[in-house]
Amino acid sequence: MGLCVAGAGAARADPICVVGSVKVSVDFAAAGHHRCLESSDGELTLSVEPENKPIDPSPWFAFKLDADAETQLRVTLAYDGANHRYHPKWTTDGRVWRHVKSRGDVDNKNDRARFTIDVAKGQTFVAAQAIETPDAMLAWARNVLGPVDFEQVEYGKSVDGRPLIGFRGGGEAGDGLIVALTRQHPPETTGAAAFRAFVERLVANDAKARAFRSKHRIVLAPMTNPDGVMRGNWRHNAGGKDLNRDWGVWSQPETRTLGRFVESEAAQQRVVVFLDFHSTKRSVLYAPPLQNTSPTAAFVPHLRSTFEGRLSSLPRWSFSAKNPGAAKNWALTTLNAPGMTIELDDDATPAYSQALGQATADAVLTFFGDE
Ligand SMILES: [Zn+2]
Repeated sequence: MGLCVAGAGAARADPICVVGSVKVSVDFAAAGHHRCLESSDGELTLSVEPENKPIDPSPWFAFKLDADAETQLRVTLAYDGANHRYHPKWTTDGRVWRHVKSRGDVDNKNDRARFTIDVAKGQTFVAAQAIETPDAMLAWARNVLGPVDFEQVEYGKSVDGRPLIGFRGGGEAGDGLIVALTRQHPPETTGAAAFRAFVERLVANDAKARAFRSKHRIVLAPMTNPDGVMRGNWRHNAGGKDLNRDWGVWSQPETRTLGRFVESEAAQQRVVVFLDFHSTKRSVLYAPPLQNTSPTAAFVPHLRSTFEGRLSSLPRWSFSAKNPGAAKNWALTTLNAPGMTIELDDDATPAYSQALGQATADAVLTFFGDE
């Protein structure tokens, strides 16, 4: 995943302040909502603000430092209504991201975190998580899905007018439809990494995956909230709504058009599993209530036992139908499909996200492929 600086969101003032010889800017894709509150020699206090309120606290930050010479900067993040959550990462090239060395001083009482950054000469981007733009995610999807004859579908347009891109492929024999989506919530990149591993396993070129694809239909939505990602939002779309509380409500074009796309595919064959990849403070599977009437409800315990045989550390499980506007609950009530929210730990390593995504795909291949 690269950082595409071109095509950034709404133009913002640049720089927002200058600290010594360091310019601080937010003029790039996925930059956070920041103001410089204080700056003095080697010290910067930056606000970290949500797009609107009320909001669940996923306090995204992303800003750029431009330095004439190598220096050190002490940065205080001053959160507006949230505790510090993401360990800061930095990059100079938009490709290789590293954790800022110091974990920093976290002052939850005052919603502040303070850390020191070694600033190289030139540009340094600092962000809550490695920035993964819609363009980068869609480039990955085309690269992986094109060779196995998936069709790209523009199923709608976002509030800001961006194309909403899905993919469909596999067989049309009526053996069942797999639906998977991610990035309803902009900062949740460890979940997106698991989604990518899930897809890459399903479209692999081995006999088992090929046989599965010859029978089963697969519908994928890899970037369901492009405006939220590009705007550097904590959680919402450009309409200021939590998309994962809007399924069945359909107040936003991102959810309304994706729901319509899935329903039109589901009219041709039954959805057998519906997976929505996210991230939160720990890895957890939000599954349907155990007493549900989906004909493929047994996939859920199958997935659980697959994880037990494969993962070094197991996610927690929760079985409920809370949050009626969540995609997983809409899948159960409307499609009678086991809908699951797969949450990866914010700090999940790429290897762990990959292992969980691959294990999920293998559970799909063994459960539905052997029918
Ligand atoms: Zn989420």
